[in-house]
Amino acid sequence: MKRLYNFCAGPAALPEAVLLQAQTELLDWKNHGLSVMEMSHRSAEFIEIAQQAEQNLRAILNVPENYHVLFLQGGARTQFATIPMNILQNKTRAAYVDSGHWSKHAINQAKAYCDVDVIAKIEENGLIADPKDWMVDESFAYLHYVANETIDGVEFHDSPSVAKIPLVSDMSSTLLSRPLDVSQFGLVYAGAQKNIGPAGLTIVIIRDDLIGHALPVTPKTFDYKVQVQAKSMYNTPPTFAWYLAGLVFQWIIDQGGLEKMAEINRCKAEKLYAAIDQSDFYENTVPEKLRSWMNVPFSLPQHDFLSQEFLTQAKQSGLLNLKGHVAVGGMRASLYNAVTDLAVDALIDFMQEFEKRYG
Ligand SMILES: *Cc1c(COP(=O)(O)O)cnc(C)c1O
Repeated sequence: MKRLYNFCAGPAALPEAVLLQAQTELLDWKNHGLSVMEMSHRSAEFIEIAQQAEQNLRAILNVPENYHVLFLQGGARTQFATIPMNILQNKTRAAYVDSGHWSKHAINQAKAYCDVDVIAKIEENGLIADPKDWMVDESFAYLHYVANETIDGVEFHDSPSVAKIPLVSDMSSTLLSRPLDVSQFGLVYAGAQKNIGPAGLTIVIIRDDLIGHALPVTPKTFDYKVQVQAKSMYNTPPTFAWYLAGLVFQWIIDQGGLEKMAEINRCKAEKLYAAIDQSDFYENTVPEKLRSWMNVPFSLPQHDFLSQEFLTQAKQSGLLNLKGHVAVGGMRASLYNAVTDLAVDALIDFMQEFEKRYG
C-alpha cells in the first residue's frame, strides 16, 4: 500500500489516523457485529455515534447553547438556496459580498428567492473592502459572504462586525482550520468534503431565532426547523459520512484543538507563500492580507506552457491533484488540516527542483 501527498481541493485528504480507525471498525463497529454503513439511523448505536460527533464538534468550536448543529445532505450549493428559503423572515432583500467564484454562485441562486444587493465586490486588482467596513442596514434579511474562496484562494482573516442583521457564511473550505467565534454569526455552513470529512455531508450551525421562518414552498427536507426537530433525521442522513466526520472531530481534539490547527495551518501556508514569493518562476497574485491559508493558487507567469509538465512530474513525484480549477487554470495546492507539514515540504522541494531545471 502507498499513500501519496494529496493536495486536492475537495473531496480532499483525510487524516491517516482517521482512515485507519475507520478501516479497523469497518466490518464490525465496536463489537456490535455490523458496519456503521449497515446500521439503522434510528438504532441506539448510530444515535450514540451521531450524538458524540455533535458533542465533539460543539466542544471544538465552542458552539453556544442557542445554536443548533445540523448534519444534512445536498452540499454547500444546496444551502445557497436553502438559506434564502429559510431566513428571509418576511423581508425581500438580502446583502451579499462577492469575493469570487462561489460568492457568484451563491448570489445567482439567491436571486430566485429575493432581491440581492452586492454590498462589496472584489476588484480587478484583487482588493475588496475590509469586512469591518461592510455596511448593511436592517432592510436586509441577512448578510452572506464566503469566508474562503476555494478556487480563487481568497480568505477573509477577520470576521465582519455586523451586529444588526444575521451574518451568514459559507465556510466550506475553512471551517475547523482555525478558531471561530460562532456567536458572531446567525448561520455558518460547510460542505464536509474539504476540511471535515467525506463528501455527502453538509454541516449547518444556526442560531435558534432563525429557524421556523421557512417559505411555504420549502421542501420539508430543506426546512431547518423540521430538521432541528428531527435532530437532522427527518430523512435518512448520510450516516457513514457523519460517522467519519465524528472521527475527524475526535482527531482534531487529539491534535490539540483549533488553536493548534491554526498554528500548524498558518505555518504551512506561510512556508509555501514564501517559497512562491522568493522565486521569479512561480507567482500568486492574491494581495497578501487576503491570501488563503487553505488554498494556494499559483502559476508560472513566464512559463505557462510548462504547467502541464509541472503537473505530470509532480504526480510522478507523488504529489497529487495540484491542477488549478478550470475557471482559473494554473496550479493550486490545498493545505487542509489533513495535509501534513511533510507534504508541504515535499511540494516546496519539488517546486524548487523544477525551477532549477526549467527556470
Ligand atoms: C466546494 C465549495 C462549494 C460547493 O460545494 P458542494 O458541496 O459541491 O455543493 C461551495 N462553496 C465553497 C466555498 C466551496 O469550497
